Amino acid sequence: MSWESSIQYERIINELVRDRLGGTASADLLIRSFNFADIEALQQSGRWDEAGRLLAEAAAHLEAGGAEAIVICTNTMHSLADQISDAIGVPIIHIADATATAVRAAGVTTVGLLGTRYTMEQDFYVGRLRDRHGLTVLVPDEPDRTTIHDVIFEELVRGIVNPASKAQYVAIIDRLVGRGAEGIIAGCTEIELLVEPADVSCSYFPTTRLHAEAAAAFALGPIGRAAG
Ligand code: GLU
Repeated sequence: MSWESSIQYERIINELVRDRLGGTASADLLIRSFNFADIEALQQSGRWDEAGRLLAEAAAHLEAGGAEAIVICTNTMHSLADQISDAIGVPIIHIADATATAVRAAGVTTVGLLGTRYTMEQDFYVGRLRDRHGLTVLVPDEPDRTTIHDVIFEELVRGIVNPASKAQYVAIIDRLVGRGAEGIIAGCTEIELLVEPADVSCSYFPTTRLHAEAAAAFALGPIGRAAG
């Protein structure tokens, strides 16, 4: 939910719509961008219900404004997807499903997952990849999880891209590959600002890109929503 990755969603979705429709076509989007400091405070203090109420209310407003689907532009806050879904009548395009579809399409069944501590340690993400998509998911051991988490919150959501942190991430990825990961999920929407596919020796699944592609596919779907 930091704007550092939200802006990537807006760019990718618009580029895909332009590529398909040509000319001056762009996506018809309603964007609700929060003050991330408020969200981070709710996460850190474990007030997930309150965050869920905030996001559910925002999703309902987007639906009232005409949104035909909701895209939650963060992996972490998909922990609240059910609570948000209960408040709306339109679908949520789930980031784990968009990602898992790409993982399966690549013929990968064992993946390493990088993300916030919440995404790596709670079950909402790993469990969904396992139970709905049949994937085996490896998460980094400590202290690697702490490194991944701290770089997200101390650097990436603040727009800081640090080569030393990239080297740390690549070393952690190498350890996951050593444990059997055939691919790596960049399971935090800012990670692909730091680590690109060329930095990784195995298949790489950038969730912002994959989720934005799923959103664009929805918008460009059979009834041509983006075309109006
Ligand atoms: N954008 C990150 C994610 O995909 C973390 C920031 C947040 O907590 O939303 O999980």
